[in-house]
Amino acid sequence: MDINKFYKNTYNISDEVLKITENAEKEVEKYADNARKVCEYNSVKVLNAFNKHKICEAHFYPTTGYGYDDNGRDTLDMVYADVFGAEDALVRHNIVNGTQAISLCFYGILRPGDTVVAATGRPYDTLEEVIGLRGENGNGSLKDFGINYKEVALKNDKIDIDALVKSIDKTCKMVAFQRSKGYAWRNSLSVDEIGEAITAVKSVNKDIVCFVDNCYGEFVEEKEPCDVGADLAAGSLIKNPGGGICRSGGYIVGTKRCIELVSYRMTCPGIGRECGASLGENRFMYQGLFLAPHIVYQSIKSAMLVSAVFDKLGFDVMPKISDRRTDIIQAVKLGNGEKLVKFCQGIQKGAPIDSFVVPEAWDMPGYESQVVMAAGAFTRGSSIEISADGPMREPYIAFYQGGLTYETAKAAIMSAAENVINCK
Ligand SMILES: *Cc1c(COP(=O)(O)O)cnc(C)c1O
Repeated sequence: MDINKFYKNTYNISDEVLKITENAEKEVEKYADNARKVCEYNSVKVLNAFNKHKICEAHFYPTTGYGYDDNGRDTLDMVYADVFGAEDALVRHNIVNGTQAISLCFYGILRPGDTVVAATGRPYDTLEEVIGLRGENGNGSLKDFGINYKEVALKNDKIDIDALVKSIDKTCKMVAFQRSKGYAWRNSLSVDEIGEAITAVKSVNKDIVCFVDNCYGEFVEEKEPCDVGADLAAGSLIKNPGGGICRSGGYIVGTKRCIELVSYRMTCPGIGRECGASLGENRFMYQGLFLAPHIVYQSIKSAMLVSAVFDKLGFDVMPKISDRRTDIIQAVKLGNGEKLVKFCQGIQKGAPIDSFVVPEAWDMPGYESQVVMAAGAFTRGSSIEISADGPMREPYIAFYQGGLTYETAKAAIMSAAENVINCK
């Protein structure tokens, strides 16, 4: 079977896009080798944690009610702690998303009069209402509780360590880092860069809690934030560490004391982590973690293909194919709203689920601008599965992420390219 003829007949891909993709794939092959090595290391790291904790069928047993003595849940926490280089962890299917996992860290640690410093500029959109930068007073934001917020902008896409150190006063309880670019046009921050800044913060006051929003970063490098001194890190299970298998959830890893404090916020003081029935979700969370390094590798290769194809089509891409990566996000500056929408519609056409629907921009809860989003996933909103989105504001950047298999992502990426070049 001539695969290109197949793409032409099924996805209406033109000779031009087929040719560009063929050339782009040669570059992907050249640059994907490092990602493959990282994948192998992380896969074996996870396997080894499973072996060490003697994971067996009994860990998948579904508890109900209060969920006391849920051995599967408690052991999964230990597996996560090992994999993420942390002392302890909380992994729960009923943490509703990454924003809640991050909020639990803020509310678990910060007290009235404390200051949190954002060390990597403005945090992810959905955290603005948590901090109290946007939205109504009285909703229970950090600001409502008398918690101060300071922000240190990035300098040439790097953490401005001098300014960060200067911003620390006696009230500073937490410094928050964001590894991934989120909806910003910048490089994401490597784990080592974050580690350097953590060392600087700790040299001012070792008791300051260094927190990392690790969303989209898991398993892209061999190191994770706690390996370089972070006290807390958090993320979503419908992104990287869920491996496309988790149906819902979030995780937090960190020091014993920080995790204890966060657990009291997650349920309530005195009860903490002891309650919370796993209801049969454990099997998915274990299997997802097991697959995660490989699925992340598929996503990275897919992101590299987006980068190479759209670079060849003349668009600015971030990162470029030769750049080192620390998250799975690929940004493409499309320059106008119609192209952004068409890009997402093209990705949607090549998704396994809901390929027949046509995404439009809408007011998504928690986001400031309208957002257009391609989401054709087995798990609603999962962005370790193939997905693309972008806020409807200048300069109309598409953020592509995920892809459970490189082979199917390729069809979607060509379909997006075809849509964009046909958009006048
Ligand atoms: C996805 C993400 C979050 C959390 O988003 P949810 O949709 O609530 O899971 C936070 N920070 C970053 C950088 C993210 O990518």
